[in-house]
Amino acid sequence: MDESQPSAVEVDWSLVTRVADRLIPADAYPSASQAGVVGRLASGSADENRELWAALLGPGFAALRRELGGCDLDATTDDELDRLLDRVAAGEATHPWPVSPASFHAELMRVTAEQFYGSHGAAGWHMVGFSPALRRPGGAPPGGAAPLTTCRVHELRASYDAIVIGVGAGGGVAAAELAARGLTVLAADRGELLSYPQVGKDHLRNFRLAQYGHNAPPDVAAGPRVWADREGNEQVAASPWDPRWSALPQTIGGGTRVYQGMAWRLLPADFELATRYGVPDGSSLADWPISYDDLEPYYSEIEWSVGVSGDGTAHRNQGGRSRAYPMPPLPDNTEAAVLRRAAGHLGWSTGPIPLLINSEPRDGRGRCGQCGECVGFACPTQAKNGPYNSVLPRALQTGNLTIAARARAVRILTDARGRVSGVALMDTPGGPVTEVSAGHVVVACSAIETPRLLLHSTCDHHPDGLGNAAGQVGRHLQGHLSAVTFGIFDTPVIDGTGPNARIATCDHIHSRPGVLGGFLGNEVLKLPIIHWNRALPPGAPRAGLAGKIAMRELYRRTSHVFGLAQEIPEAANRVTLSPDVRDAQGVPVARLTGRLHPENARSADLLIEKGTEWLAAAGARQIWSLTYSLDLSAGQHQAGTCRMGDDPATSVTDRWGRVHGHDNLWIMDGSVHVSNGGFNPVLTIMALALRSARHLAG
Ligand SMILES: Cc1cc2nc3c(=O)[nH]c(=O)nc-3n(C[C@H](O)[C@H](O)[C@H](O)COP(=O)(O)OP(=O)(O)OC[C@H]3O[C@@H](n4cnc5c(N)ncnc54)[C@H](O)[C@@H]3O)c2cc1C
Repeated sequence: MDESQPSAVEVDWSLVTRVADRLIPADAYPSASQAGVVGRLASGSADENRELWAALLGPGFAALRRELGGCDLDATTDDELDRLLDRVAAGEATHPWPVSPASFHAELMRVTAEQFYGSHGAAGWHMVGFSPALRRPGGAPPGGAAPLTTCRVHELRASYDAIVIGVGAGGGVAAAELAARGLTVLAADRGELLSYPQVGKDHLRNFRLAQYGHNAPPDVAAGPRVWADREGNEQVAASPWDPRWSALPQTIGGGTRVYQGMAWRLLPADFELATRYGVPDGSSLADWPISYDDLEPYYSEIEWSVGVSGDGTAHRNQGGRSRAYPMPPLPDNTEAAVLRRAAGHLGWSTGPIPLLINSEPRDGRGRCGQCGECVGFACPTQAKNGPYNSVLPRALQTGNLTIAARARAVRILTDARGRVSGVALMDTPGGPVTEVSAGHVVVACSAIETPRLLLHSTCDHHPDGLGNAAGQVGRHLQGHLSAVTFGIFDTPVIDGTGPNARIATCDHIHSRPGVLGGFLGNEVLKLPIIHWNRALPPGAPRAGLAGKIAMRELYRRTSHVFGLAQEIPEAANRVTLSPDVRDAQGVPVARLTGRLHPENARSADLLIEKGTEWLAAAGARQIWSLTYSLDLSAGQHQAGTCRMGDDPATSVTDRWGRVHGHDNLWIMDGSVHVSNGGFNPVLTIMALALRSARHLAG
């Protein structure tokens, strides 16, 4: 047993069973205990919720026992217990409690609901009408796709034409392109290639709801990150599932292993924001050094080589396109039909959300089976497309590409003249370090780890880190401010087919003077526990029969419209190295600091206003929005920390992703974004990586 942990707490489990069955009582569907919740609470009390039980729930149950006085539990009626629990929930008690009665009730309800709605195969799923099962066969052709093969650090050669660090969205595309163009390429990732079962289907531990952890690395062995406010007050985020850590998966494939795959292009105007809007005081809003037309051919190429389904003619306000999508959109669903009709009444244009998901068998892999477990998880039919299952397996066939797993870059190496010469790779975790030399080094570790690596790679010629002569590395950290609106309908709008996200409007981007805006779309199919956490209306009952009925009645009648507000960046929002905190391998951890520019609120407010209008026109009878925060965003859409630009004083790379002042150091991930658009970023990351890699190879 871990001595540092509080010991397992003594609890009267017969009392827990009675109480859990009042929080979720039996009706036509099982009660909490009938659904096996109490056994799972008991395991949690000795495991991930040990501290909660020791500090709050254990003492709370002892106090609850005292509230019952000498009454025999069996003689206490359900009504009596309900009245007592109502008083506890309201913070009222007859005897002194060692803990807050209201907190006890709220936390007990939370962990009970987690087990009732969040355990695999939970009774709560059947009750609300959620099923993770495939709705149609994937239809993968016999023979399947070419596999990806990887090796370990000790098997590497001494030298390659190029080393790409990070095999995620940007790095995967870059490595494949360089190998296809004839360079010998090492693509090194600190993670492993995880199989579908390894990623798993845990509704409480994934990249959508990380209540107790993630379903892919990083885990705590990756070390903490430090989060600081503008006044310099620091907090250490110890585990990567702390939202302040801002984690993306560290596995071969990076974010693409578990993403939703929304595959948006930026709009032409997004590349010239400073020209169109001016530069708000205190912000670092800037034009890109390239235009939409420069990137358009690469968007098209990625849509075909990695694989996007959609309808390129549907959306108003899109840039021109040289080619249609290679696959039609996924089949329509109920919510999309309802929202499309309403948008028509409002005079808005809508179209399918373009997705990096096969709508038909393609590339040796299946089509989307429309299961209920999409975003945050791997795909059971391999229909979700990323470089790891598309361009990389094809590039391996050239014989030019080597993919190293568990190969963490701890430092970029330079020679006596300060020129980049290779990479020091550690066989993770904590294994030996091997120096591998390279003609070119491409950094693609995502927008927090890339600046961390550059800043850590100091030498006499680059005492502040590589590419950081002007102090620009790590600045302009951004993500997306999410605007969330819900509406309840009289009849079901959620038909249960995944991935559900199907319809969007781009009419509220650059539509109101001075407001950047963003796209507005319907959300992915919700896991029931996420619905319980976030999507019940204000004031809805959560405990007792009324709480159970609320979930049953509202799960399929609630539409969730979300918008991604294009962020206005600031130079002071940044990644630096913590001077005090290091990971287990002695590398300083990333320190994130900043706060969103107040102007961002105008975009979020616009998207909430329009989301409300949309749901009202669709016939929703109760509509509400979540409050948003102007805390630093970063997160899963992190970008911007090694901005591309023509001026080395204000940017880190040139327009091709080549680091200023270096002839052979490149960045090809979300770090180079000047701004992040009012859309999810990944298609832009891949298109830019393709453009930069082709330039490098040329
Ligand atoms: C749940 C979820 C849903 C999402 N949905 C969408 C969506 O619908 N549409 C969209 O556009 N975007 C989406 N995203 C975001 C998208 O996945 C990211 O924007 C994208 O993956 C970032 O690409 P990148 O190349 O910058 O980094 P990544 O894809 O994160 O790749 C970085 C790679 O670098 C590796 N690495 C890091 N440090 C080192 C090191 N020192 N040495 C070696 N390797 C290292 C990591 O292991 C990782 O594989 C989603 C993300 C998540 C997690």
